[in-house]
Amino acid sequence: MLRIARVLHGTTAEGPGLRTAVWFQGCSIRCMGCINPHLFSPSGGSDVTVSDIVLGAMAGEVEGLTLIGGEPFDQPSAGAKLVTEAQEQGLGVIAFSGYEYEMLRDRDEDTKRFLAGIDLLVDGPYQAWKQETGRALVGSTNQRFIHISDRYRSYQPDMAANRVDIRILPDGSIDVAGFLDTDALKNLLEATGTSRKPRRAIAE
Ligand code: SF4
Repeated sequence: MLRIARVLHGTTAEGPGLRTAVWFQGCSIRCMGCINPHLFSPSGGSDVTVSDIVLGAMAGEVEGLTLIGGEPFDQPSAGAKLVTEAQEQGLGVIAFSGYEYEMLRDRDEDTKRFLAGIDLLVDGPYQAWKQETGRALVGSTNQRFIHISDRYRSYQPDMAANRVDIRILPDGSIDVAGFLDTDALKNLLEATGTSRKPRRAIAE
């Protein structure tokens, strides 16, 4: 089981191509200025099975998964199982972590299996005093794109545009995902009257 805040199938706002984005619930890092403090508590969100996520991704005919949060590596065992099943189905995996690669690489076996199933790791905590302005998908200049496989080697974050995914749900609520700077996010949320925040505006 994974503890997650949200799953979004078929989005183009969370990395290259059509993707399933999975927001992990719980983050022990708690960067100052994180746009997603509602994901800090591990007791929020809900439990889902790894198979449910992978089957949903397959049904949505996505190219791969993007694992975000919260902190995916706070759930190394379930995360390892998820990326293993995803790989078996031919899905690519991009994962964001507030931990740095060198720290993850030397952790427990579950973490190593989790890392081994990822194609592209975006690592490092969000540092509000190092605002990123030139690369897509990241909020601060310390965050790195580490290619664990060649699958996304052609992706160039300095050439790519940030995208926003806005959906009007059957109950009339508005769901927002993607990357905006803080002012743009605030304006959008006020304009749409939505209380649900995007995964991050400026954070990992
Ligand atoms: S930016 Fe990411 S790692 Fe940092 S507190 Fe927020 S969710 Fe956690």
